Amino acid sequence: MAKVYLVGTGPGDPTLLTLRGRNLLARADVLVFDRLVPQALLVAVPDTCQCISVGKKGYAGHVTQDEINAILVEQGRRADVRTVVRLKGGDPFVFGRGGEEAAVLARAGVSFEVVPAVTAATAAAAYAGIPVTERGIASQLTLVTGNEDPLKDDAAVSWEMLARDPGTLCLYMSVRRLPQIAERLLAGGMSERMPVAVVERAACGRQRVVCGVLGGIVEQVERERVQAPALVIIGRVVKRAGELSWFEDLPLFGHTVMVTRAKAQAPAFVSALTRRGAEVVCCPVLEMHQVADAVCDEALMHLGSYDWVVLTSARAVGFFFERLFSLGMDARALASVRVATIGTATAAALRAGGVSSDLVPPSYHSRALAEALLDTGLSAGARVLCPRARIASDVLPSVLRAAGVRCDVVTLYETVVPACNAAMETGIAALKEGDVDAVTFTSPSSVRNLVELLDGDTSALTGVDLFSIGPVTTQELQCNGLVASAEAEVHTVPGLVEALERYYGEAGQAHVV
Ligand code: SAH
Repeated sequence: MAKVYLVGTGPGDPTLLTLRGRNLLARADVLVFDRLVPQALLVAVPDTCQCISVGKKGYAGHVTQDEINAILVEQGRRADVRTVVRLKGGDPFVFGRGGEEAAVLARAGVSFEVVPAVTAATAAAAYAGIPVTERGIASQLTLVTGNEDPLKDDAAVSWEMLARDPGTLCLYMSVRRLPQIAERLLAGGMSERMPVAVVERAACGRQRVVCGVLGGIVEQVERERVQAPALVIIGRVVKRAGELSWFEDLPLFGHTVMVTRAKAQAPAFVSALTRRGAEVVCCPVLEMHQVADAVCDEALMHLGSYDWVVLTSARAVGFFFERLFSLGMDARALASVRVATIGTATAAALRAGGVSSDLVPPSYHSRALAEALLDTGLSAGARVLCPRARIASDVLPSVLRAAGVRCDVVTLYETVVPACNAAMETGIAALKEGDVDAVTFTSPSSVRNLVELLDGDTSALTGVDLFSIGPVTTQELQCNGLVASAEAEVHTVPGLVEALERYYGEAGQAHVV
């Protein structure tokens, strides 16, 4: 029988997930996720994982708690899977009905574990610069649900008692009932001047903090049209919000950026963008598969007959070693051959396989690599092997061949549009709903595949800033009637992140002026 893991993600920021959570996602056979889970975590599961949405409106409709419980029991009883991850926003046991789900599993005899996480209250406070406790100001912290009707006689929350609380109150699920809650707190004797902060979409790139006092907060929340999810913090510590803010100062704060990279390569990019304050939506529009190609195998078995092997991406390096291993060889096959790589990430992947790159050109594109190779004094008739993707640019082989070099191009892998998956589906939906400000493209195939997934209708990209990793990708955008807002100066993922920072930094300054 399987085991069900009730895993908390933390709120908003996908990098708040615990290591335990990440390890479980990496081996999940089944994922059951809801609306408050950071979308970018959907790429953290294996391709084979079955994803079941039990939350997001318009994606799977509304699923009741009884239905969710039944799904968990059914999945937990499966004999053909081992790891069922029930992914929940924040902490599973803090107002997340995780306790009820665990109880149902226990009653059904399904084994389970609970993985705690950062809860919305502490994350909202941290990202809004509000220490929930502070010596001499707040020595206690209360987590309260605002979900039940405070005007009911048998209400479980005693708002009058909380009104006398000298500490900090953190209210979950309370935006809708804030008018009644404020009324009860005031009736219980809490001062009209008590500071209050409402943190909407905490720890997300589009976080908003509305600060005020108890007497006026209801009007402010209505005026600002604050929406769920939001966390209400009441207490003297809220005065700190202005002094200790830091999240809003990050360079990409306020922007929702789409990452179109393949699942395996998305996480490093997601974390670079998140660290700079962006909200990230993942839409893996491509997938790479090894190709068993007889011509390639023949070339690999005679590697010693080449002067150079050229590898133009980290993925190509990975597939190169995999193919060598499957042919019963290893890095020693490169003993007498020199290796050229296109950039530092490719060279690092090669080094991880125990081989140093003999040549990295000063700029990271095919022509520069071909010219750098010729500069090493390659004579006419020299032999170069170029194992790479099925569809790739012809620049490098044609420059080498024009100089009389014998360049063999062989196919190691191919790039395809992935079969439908949860990240892709929710990503495309976010784009169509207008929830994305920027889309990043790291290869021409990422452009082609996204356009294909949009059925050729690029209207969802109107008004969205498009960022390209380099000239070939920019050209592919043009071929599809799209215009790059900015292109990376250095054609790497860190270069692309820099392009976004520069673009929005300048836009931000223009806005201030
Ligand atoms: N288990 C979750 C809470 C689920 S109840 C946790 O530990 O955080 C849902 C409520 O949590 C929302 O109504 C809101 O009050 C709060 N919440 C969840 N994510 C939030 C976010 N990103 N920003 C602000 N509040 C959030």
